[in-house]
Amino acid sequence: ERLLGRLMDQGIESMEVLDVIRSTPRHIFLDEALSHRAYEDVALPIGHNQTISQPYIVARMTEAIISTGPVDKVLEIGTGCGYQTAIIAQLANSIYTVERIRPLLERAKKNLKLLGLRNIQYRHDDGSAGWKKSGPYDAIITTAAPQQIPKELLQQLAEGGRLVIPVGTESHQELRLITRHGDEFNSETLIAVRFVPLLKGQVQH
Ligand code: SAH
Repeated sequence: ERLLGRLMDQGIESMEVLDVIRSTPRHIFLDEALSHRAYEDVALPIGHNQTISQPYIVARMTEAIISTGPVDKVLEIGTGCGYQTAIIAQLANSIYTVERIRPLLERAKKNLKLLGLRNIQYRHDDGSAGWKKSGPYDAIITTAAPQQIPKELLQQLAEGGRLVIPVGTESHQELRLITRHGDEFNSETLIAVRFVPLLKGQVQH
């Protein structure tokens, strides 16, 4: 409840998002040594030099993709521990998630099954060019930052679809919300953020 209060103080308004965050345990996504900090509004290490996102950022990104109504199919690049995946899986019909570090993907799979979430498709791959075969998507969310938005992600958006993505260098990034209207892409800058870089090429086993 304290975390929920913090999210509301920071401007999260969607009751749907707040309810899902309230009912989703975050501690199961963390190592035991860090699980006592699970309900603080901070990013925490999950191994392999990666982090679990700050709850405020998870809430803000989720709010950005559901604010125009129910979403059917979502693509997520950067599964990490799977916490963001868990939140979206409860608000969309299906989610396709891609992670380049295999042990993280396997751990995420285990945790998401534990929560009984079955509308998730997993892929161990470089997701910087999306997942074309399963597209188009009503929403795409990227939880690692490219320096420029990959055009493949724009192409895999359905009409009216939304892409929420951090863009920039390690020292300066902003969260963008792109909406597709035919061949036009409307871009809005939301907030300053700090994500790990979106790596291209080889995956990690
Ligand atoms: N969504 C997570 C946070 C993920 S951290 C959460 O809910 O907390 C970002 C993740 O993106 C890392 O696990 C990293 O390995 C992954 N990543 C980076 N570049 C990638 C790429 N090209 N394809 C797929 N995953 C990538």
